[in-house]
Amino acid sequence: MLMEVTCRCGWVIRGSRSEVIRGVQAHARSAHGLELTPGEVRAVWKVAAEAPAAGRRNGGGE
Ligand SMILES: [Zn+2]
Repeated sequence: MLMEVTCRCGWVIRGSRSEVIRGVQAHARSAHGLELTPGEVRAVWKVAAEAPAAGRRNGGGE
């Protein structure tokens, strides 16, 4: 399962749980001067849609 976090600055990361936690921590530190705990990352992430290649759907406007 992929997780996704969108920062308030518009930066987006998507990946496994550990990748997202590390990536958000690194981004917060370098871009915003913030030190986030893994718990803070978990509080804001959401489940990302599976990769489009995993299946096809007919129709759909997105
Ligand atoms: Zn940011």
